Amino acid sequence: MAATSESGILFVLSGPSGAGKGTVCKALMESLPDMCLSISVTTRPPRPGEQHGVNYFFKTKAQFEAMIANDDLLEWAVVFDHYYGTPREFVETKLREGHDVLLEIDIQGAMQVKQRHPNGVFIFLIPPSATELEARILGRGTESEASFRQRFGAARHELQQMQHYDYVVVNDVVAAACARIQAIITAEHCSVSRNLHLLTEW
Ligand code: 5GP
Repeated sequence: MAATSESGILFVLSGPSGAGKGTVCKALMESLPDMCLSISVTTRPPRPGEQHGVNYFFKTKAQFEAMIANDDLLEWAVVFDHYYGTPREFVETKLREGHDVLLEIDIQGAMQVKQRHPNGVFIFLIPPSATELEARILGRGTESEASFRQRFGAARHELQQMQHYDYVVVNDVVAAACARIQAIITAEHCSVSRNLHLLTEW
């Protein structure tokens, strides 16, 4: 990218359950070879096919609580009765080295990140409609009836949190949502406030 900031930019992607964050993140990572994806720590049991160190670092509650006590987490939250958190060292090292970092985390976590990294870019991904959201959560086929109701109810409430974000992206078609996020990434790299070092370099 031509004009760019010296340290990396922290991008935070959140949105209601069923917005398609996982799918969009995966597609984004395939098209952005220089982007570093943070792998979260969770106490949630793995879903079929999920791998330790790929989808999440799966930990016990005691292990997770030790990470909180050691200040090993940039943020953490309880989501659907389980702990989720972002390992701090990985994110801060990559940013210092000049790499962009992508976090896919819930809204409570995103608001904590905003406190520590006010220059981060906060992107809210939403499904095109409530009907589509319902179909997506059910279509995943991994949720119990109780879990579905919990996630669908939370999603409606979570939509209200959009106002705390910098950008909103409607995930109608994955490729189109990715293209919008890539445009946001490019725009942020070209923002004047992130490129003031060019004045001194010239
Ligand atoms: P799932 O159980 O479906 O993988 O994730 C449930 C929710 O936890 C999603 O909204 C996801 O964005 C969120 N989540 C995943 N990792 C983290 C994390 O490290 N921190 C926080 N605060 N939320 C996370």
